[in-house]
Amino acid sequence: MLDNIMTDGECSTLRSLLESCSMPVLCCHQNADGDALGAVLAMGEVLRLLGKEPLMVVPDQYPDYLQWLPNSEKIVRYDKRRDYVDTVLKLADLIICLDFNTLARTDQMEVALSGSPAKKVLIDHHLDSDVDAVVKVSQPKASSTCELVFRVVWQLELFDQLGKHFAVPVYCGMMTDTGGFTYNSTDCDIYYIISQLLTKRIDKDKIYRNVYHNYSEHRLRMVGHVLCNCLVVDETRHAAFYTLNREDQKRFHFVKGDAEGLVNMPLQIKGLKLSISLREDTEKQMIWVSLRSVDDFPCNEVAARFFNGGGHLNASGGKLACTLPEAVEIVKQAFNAFEDRLK
Ligand code: 5GP
Ligand code: MN
Repeated sequence: MLDNIMTDGECSTLRSLLESCSMPVLCCHQNADGDALGAVLAMGEVLRLLGKEPLMVVPDQYPDYLQWLPNSEKIVRYDKRRDYVDTVLKLADLIICLDFNTLARTDQMEVALSGSPAKKVLIDHHLDSDVDAVVKVSQPKASSTCELVFRVVWQLELFDQLGKHFAVPVYCGMMTDTGGFTYNSTDCDIYYIISQLLTKRIDKDKIYRNVYHNYSEHRLRMVGHVLCNCLVVDETRHAAFYTLNREDQKRFHFVKGDAEGLVNMPLQIKGLKLSISLREDTEKQMIWVSLRSVDDFPCNEVAARFFNGGGHLNASGGKLACTLPEAVEIVKQAFNAFEDRLK
């Protein structure tokens, strides 16, 4: 059985908020991933079970490899329907913030979210949450926000009434945030949760294929190109980085989601502890940075100190307003600064 993650007080507050709300909004961070989108879709099912029709909103485009998720066609993009979402947020009475710890992670939606009179609930697994919420389920040790959504629903005793359209996005989010249960996924509760999700007759192997075997030929060739021609390995420091410039993204018909998983690949090299991806934005003069590490090496400290970002111990991100060669120099400085801890 699962331990409760909310106090009795939090649980009853959440229950009455869910039951009494008339205009609920569900939202997640920009560049939504499987966990963020999964959490929004799963909570959407919970609210529909309770007779509500929530607005499910994401700040911007989400990857192609998630478009098969049930009900994803109901999701509204803030960058496309800003006026509509702004109007709903002014009238909303409940906002459930999923998979982010600070409103700035919703980018252009931040102002409208903080200006809304609605009560906020936060369900998230990032460190240092600063969202002002009535109920806060903030558990940095959890594998994923989707795991937390499951635990919340379990504690509310709503799981029995939910079906496949709840179980599929929850499984998808847990799977994607743990690299197919290959990292941050040793807690035995995770497998109890999966066993429960399987009772809803989800096809977990199909979910895996939908996510990981859903790329274009171009994407596979781009991976080959990056690993062969753009990866720089610093053997003595047990670290590596690669660059992905604008021209190569064009050449390989890059679409959102094509970089997914790529930053993990250098960690397949024996002894490597840190991998950094530098991807040039296709329009703005900006570099998107992704960091991955193993064991106790804190890539979130590197992200915070050098790349205006943060994240988890072993998976972080950030961005730089500079050119790709300048970003490479910053990576080299970061490798130098963390040299002792990379040994
Ligand atoms: P990704 O490399 O997949 O973009 O991000 C990896 C992890 O780092 C995600 O869990 C994400 O939430 C976190 N992350 C990415 N970018 C940022 C950022 O700019 N700030 C913070 N605090 N976390 C980030
Ligand atoms: Mn997550």
